[in-house]
Amino acid sequence: MPSEQAEFVVIGGGLAGTAAALTLRRHAPEGRVVLIEAGRHDRVKPGEVLPAVAQGLLRQLGAWEPFLAASFVDNRAVVSAWADDALSERPSIFSAQGSGWQLDRARFDQLLVEAAATTGVEVRLGCAVRSAVRDGQGWRLELADAEIVADAVIWAAGRSWRLARCLGAALKVHAHLAAYTRFFDSAPGDCRMVIEARPEGWWYSADLPGGSRVVACLTDPDLGSALRDPKSWYRALAATRFIAPLLPRGARETSVAVKSAGTATVDPAAGERWVAAGDCLFAADPLSSRGIVHALRSGILAAYAASDMIDGRSELARRRYAMIAAQGFADYVPALAAHYAAAARWDTPFWQRRRSHVDDAAAVQGQAMGISSREKQSNETRYPGL
Ligand SMILES: Cc1cc2nc3c(=O)[nH]c(=O)nc-3n(C[C@H](O)[C@H](O)[C@H](O)COP(=O)(O)OP(=O)(O)OC[C@H]3O[C@@H](n4cnc5c(N)ncnc54)[C@H](O)[C@@H]3O)c2cc1C
Repeated sequence: MPSEQAEFVVIGGGLAGTAAALTLRRHAPEGRVVLIEAGRHDRVKPGEVLPAVAQGLLRQLGAWEPFLAASFVDNRAVVSAWADDALSERPSIFSAQGSGWQLDRARFDQLLVEAAATTGVEVRLGCAVRSAVRDGQGWRLELADAEIVADAVIWAAGRSWRLARCLGAALKVHAHLAAYTRFFDSAPGDCRMVIEARPEGWWYSADLPGGSRVVACLTDPDLGSALRDPKSWYRALAATRFIAPLLPRGARETSVAVKSAGTATVDPAAGERWVAAGDCLFAADPLSSRGIVHALRSGILAAYAASDMIDGRSELARRRYAMIAAQGFADYVPALAAHYAAAARWDTPFWQRRRSHVDDAAAVQGQAMGISSREKQSNETRYPGL
C-alpha cells in the first residue's frame, strides 16, 4: 500500500477540522497539512443557526470575506414558547454582538474547505480514515487505498467516534437526544428562528437561504422512534402551535435526517500526538446553540496544541488543552440544565428526565472530564487570539 508522510493530518473536514487546518497553515506554515474528509459536503445537514460571536473566529481564520460573499440569511430574532405558551421574542438588534445567521450548512462547510485549500492545505474529499496505529512518535493512518504517517493528528470526525479505541480515548455519553429533521423548499420566512417546547420534547424551525426551511423535533430516541414514520412526524407537527403555521401550503419536503443530538465527551481530550476537536471532543445539545462556535474555537486551539506537541511540549499541550476543554463543559452543564428546567411544565417522560438532569448537573460541575481543581489552577495559561 502506498505510504506518505505529513507533519499534521486532520481527520474530518467539518468546521472543527477546517478551523484546525487553517490555523496550522498560519501558525506552522512550514509543515505539510493534510485534511481528510469522508464526505463531500454535498448533502443537507442540520446545524444552521450561527451566533454573531462567530464573526471574530471567521476573521481569525481568514474566512470572513468568503462567508460574507455567500449571503446567508441574517438572523433577525429568536422567538420561543418555552417557559409558557406565549411567544417571547429576543430581537438581534438588542444583542451587543449584532445579528447571527441562518445558514445553508453544506455551503458553509464547503466554503471553509475551499478557504483551507486556498491556503495550501491538501484536501482529500470522499476519503475516510479507517484506523490509526502508533508509528514512532506519530500515527500511521489507514485510508481505503493508501496510508499516511502523521507527526500529529487532529481528530475532528464530529459525532463519529469510531477511531476512539485506536487513539486510546473513551466516549462518555452524558445524555441522549435525537433530532427528527425535515427540510423544505418554497417555505420562505422572516429571518427568525422559532422554538417551541412540547410535551414530547421541543421543536425548532428557521428559514434558510433560497426560500428553504428546516423543521426539527428533538426528543429522546426511545420516545421518538415513531417520528421516523412521516405520518407520525406530520401529526406531531400539526399539534404544535407556532411551528406548523411556518410551513405554507406550497412548501415541498426535500429531505429527511435523523441525527443523534445528545451530550457526549471524550476522555482524554488529547493524548500522545493527537488532539480531539469539535463534536468529537464535546458534542453539545443543540438547545445550547454552541456547537458551531465550539467547533471553530476548539479547532483553532487543537491546532496550537498539536503544533506544541511536535515542538517537544507535549505534556504541557495536553494538560492545557484538557483544562480548557473541561472548563467549557463545566460551564455548559448547569446552563443547559437550568434552560430545560425553565420549560419543564409537563409530567411526560421527556420532561421528567430533564428534571432529574438538574440534580445531576450540580454533581457533574467541577468533576468535568476528570480534571482536578489543582490541575485547573496550575494550567491557567491561555492560547493567543482567543
Ligand atoms: C439537529 C441539530 C441541530 C443543530 N443546530 C445547531 C445550531 O443551530 N447552531 C449550532 O451552533 N450548532 C448546531 N448543531 C451542532 C453543530 O452542527 C455541530 O456542533 C457542528 O457541526 C460540529 O462540527 P464538527 O466539525 O465538530 O463536526 P461535523 O460538522 O460533524 O464534521 C465532522 C466531519 O468529519 C467527517 N468524518 C467523520 N469520520 C471520518 C473519518 N473516519 N475520516 C474522515 N472524515 C470523517 C464527517 O464526514 C464530517 O464532515 C446542531 C446539531 C444537530 C444534531
